[in-house]
Amino acid sequence: MPTNKSVSDAPITQFINCRILRDHRLQREDLWVREGMILDPEKLFFDEQGYADKHVDCGGSIIAPGFIDVQINGGYGIDFSQASEDISSGITFVAKKILEHGVTSFCPTLVTSPPSVYHKVLPQVKVHNGGRHGAGVLGFHLEGPFISVEKKGAHPERYLRTFNSGGIEDVMVAYGSLDNVAMVTLAPELSNSQSVVKELCQRGITVSLGHSVANLSQAEEAVQHGASFITHLFNAMLPFHHRDPGIVGLLTSDQIPAGRTVYYGMIADGIHTNPAALRIAHRAHPSGLVLVTDAITAMGLPPGRHTLGQQVIEIQGFHAYVAGTKTLCGSIATMDTCVRHFKEASGCSVEEALEAASLHPAQFLGISQRKGNLDYGSDADLIQLDDALTVKATYISGEEVWRKGL
Ligand SMILES: [Zn+2]
Repeated sequence: MPTNKSVSDAPITQFINCRILRDHRLQREDLWVREGMILDPEKLFFDEQGYADKHVDCGGSIIAPGFIDVQINGGYGIDFSQASEDISSGITFVAKKILEHGVTSFCPTLVTSPPSVYHKVLPQVKVHNGGRHGAGVLGFHLEGPFISVEKKGAHPERYLRTFNSGGIEDVMVAYGSLDNVAMVTLAPELSNSQSVVKELCQRGITVSLGHSVANLSQAEEAVQHGASFITHLFNAMLPFHHRDPGIVGLLTSDQIPAGRTVYYGMIADGIHTNPAALRIAHRAHPSGLVLVTDAITAMGLPPGRHTLGQQVIEIQGFHAYVAGTKTLCGSIATMDTCVRHFKEASGCSVEEALEAASLHPAQFLGISQRKGNLDYGSDADLIQLDDALTVKATYISGEEVWRKGL
């Protein structure tokens, strides 16, 4: 009697000798993969008697969902915001390099730029799955230009914009189109911003609040209109004040609509956020914490001096300085470093540290039915790690795309 092959004839891979992160805890179980997706072994035994075509012995490693970086400006000498002529090869280059840091998908991030850059760049890089060529692109994160002059940080002031003509029209004039856009960071105190928040959310784009001087009620109003994320919490916003805690107050607000969660990005590189601030955020609202690298051009470059565009920088350890000074010029931490640092600084569990870089970003982007977890039916984007959370190997759609030492 032939086995029931009605589901698929595709080969099956069985990851053995591992602890897999599922349902918020590490479990001693095997992981089964077919056609790039995670299989329910019970169905497999029933349908096909459970014969795997290939075994991968994980040597006792942890298997976790691949990391998702929703804020990365570039790396390895490439600045996405400066690469408008050939952005797709820049993104492809970085996408391949970040596999070794366990990142299986990401949102290339553009800082405030003139309309000509968005018009040229957004149609060029389509949302696509990862593979041997590199981590998958989930869509752009557009940080600006609708942000506060007072909290512009490193964004060029001359390109900042407002919603003067009434809202979404201004968005379309600036960006040209919303194709291949996953998320937009804006300042909710700008006039007409609330209608923009609503319209973007209706179009399936995540709205994030940041680079802003908004008070708490402005931030809450934006959340009620659909905003669901806070860009690099604490950085480029009003500092916490007990009578008006500003955007930071969203972490403990009682004005969040039922069933909704506000997520927030944290740069856990040990430099941009003090460990005590990281602990405050984590203890107040652990399920919303999302690790981001906010990495700049210098991420991945060796220590020493580098010329990047108009700037000469010097890398020492995890710090990137304007050469000859002690002025920090952005984050150069990789995602796996942030995961390890977050765990150490917050005292959280291994599971929590891993989910902050996988499950949580997938949840707020609305893709957790296929990414950010190892549930049955999800994409087999996964990483093997040792107990110190060092990445040993990276898989996308069940295929090994990077392995340490190879
Ligand atoms: Zn920023």
